[in-house]
Amino acid sequence: MKDHELTYLKKKIEGLKEDGVYRELPVNYGPCDNRINLNGKEVVNLSSNNYLGLANHPRVKKAAIDAVNKYGAGAGAVRTIVGNQDILGILEDVLAEFKREESVMCFQSGLNCNIGTIQAIVEKGDLIISDELNHASIIDGVRLSRADKAVFKHSDMEHLESILEEKRNDYNQVLIITDGVFSMDGDLAKLPEIVELAEKYNAMTYVDDAHGSGVLGESGRGTVDHFHLHGRVDFIIGTLSKAIGVVGGYVASKKETKTWLSHRARPLLFSTALPPAATAAATESVKMLMESEEYTDKLWSNARYFKEKLAKLGFNTGHSETPITPVIIGPEAKTMEFSRALLDAGVYVSGIVFPTVPKNTGRLRCMISASHTIEDLDYSIAQFEKVGKELGII
Ligand SMILES: *Cc1c(COP(=O)(O)O)cnc(C)c1O
Repeated sequence: MKDHELTYLKKKIEGLKEDGVYRELPVNYGPCDNRINLNGKEVVNLSSNNYLGLANHPRVKKAAIDAVNKYGAGAGAVRTIVGNQDILGILEDVLAEFKREESVMCFQSGLNCNIGTIQAIVEKGDLIISDELNHASIIDGVRLSRADKAVFKHSDMEHLESILEEKRNDYNQVLIITDGVFSMDGDLAKLPEIVELAEKYNAMTYVDDAHGSGVLGESGRGTVDHFHLHGRVDFIIGTLSKAIGVVGGYVASKKETKTWLSHRARPLLFSTALPPAATAAATESVKMLMESEEYTDKLWSNARYFKEKLAKLGFNTGHSETPITPVIIGPEAKTMEFSRALLDAGVYVSGIVFPTVPKNTGRLRCMISASHTIEDLDYSIAQFEKVGKELGII
């Protein structure tokens, strides 16, 4: 008999509860900003990727509203039919200028971009070599491609070279994929070494700079700019959903990449284009970054201030090289208890535990933003101190 009650899902959900990992989605009753109304309570927001505070910026919002008035609410079709509104081309030109690359192709999100691009640029007979800590959307893109796969230990250049040495000659194209900034620890990929190895072994390079764009390099141009590697990385992925404050993803590369993707990338062929509001708002954000370093400077000064104060209190803030500030607590239960106590005290930081990070390295991942005021940061630090002492962490 057919099970209309979906009993198998009910059982799985019971399993989540038994494992202590069941949760409800928190509800934000307003814009994403330095303080948010989460589940009806005002808290300091230390959990968003809105690095530069652009998600609720008046200039960015105005660009979105103006675009809705001129272009409507939706694009109406995929880009290969009639969804390719002229403002998408403008966004791509602005992004190419920002990234200092030949051309840019935009997607509906960073996840879409990885899934669509990886699948399109390699095929059977090719090899992908991927860092073990790469983002889930890269892993999905790799899974969908028909290329063979190899994984190297996180940022381990000897391991990467040993794979290249052993396998390079068995394949047509070899593609090395890495995150530019690793989101759980805030460490940077060893891009200069990766590029050297790729050149030595005639492999292509693919850097997903979702957490680097808007954060590192001149005015937030990303890790490739930070390491002065322009022209030496083949595919540079960025998102419009984090520092840029809107939604969307893109790949910056040669003109041929854009042309090929317009024929083969499945999210462009089978899913409706970005809505006009998102396209215009993202364009405005990128222009603002090119006009002034004010946003990135504020982000970095806030991040340095916060990290220094936490370290002085005796917290372990890991080896982050970016505004991502992990506060490592250790045991899973204690990490979640810390996160709950901070929320009660008016500070929202999500706890991140196994299996997202290794066992016993549970952490509160603090995401610092240019939108935070010194009062926000001082208040948060005071709550960290109070809860840290109560729980015997410091
Ligand atoms: C967040 C993230 C993505 C996904 O970006 P969206 O635009 O939110 O879909 C892709 N790659 C990395 C490394 C990310 O951190």
